[in-house]
Amino acid sequence: MAGRGTDWGERGLCRTADPDDLFVEGAAQHRAKALCNGCTVRTECLAYALDQRIEHGVWGGMTERERRALLRRRPMVSSWRRLLETARWEHEHTQGAVPARPRAS
Ligand code: SF4
Repeated sequence: MAGRGTDWGERGLCRTADPDDLFVEGAAQHRAKALCNGCTVRTECLAYALDQRIEHGVWGGMTERERRALLRRRPMVSSWRRLLETARWEHEHTQGAVPARPRAS
């Protein structure tokens, strides 16, 4: 189970999964990632793995290889949790927002 001992780990869809199903390699990682797609703590899980530099397994829907590539692309990020939670908040609060039309005078 990912996130054991964290404030979000008990809400992870994998909390009852066999750890061997998440810490897999090759094509089996696609099945592990599919489980993450419906998980409500995906953001927290991915942020945790990035902030803790966890090198093995699928966390938050990303394989270790994908996380390594992301960390290489964004070396200046000091808190992935803050970054991803801000991005989620902005996404949730701008969904469907229509820009205001200028008023005719
Ligand atoms: S995102 Fe995936 S690995 Fe993380 S808690 Fe959810 S199911 Fe588990």
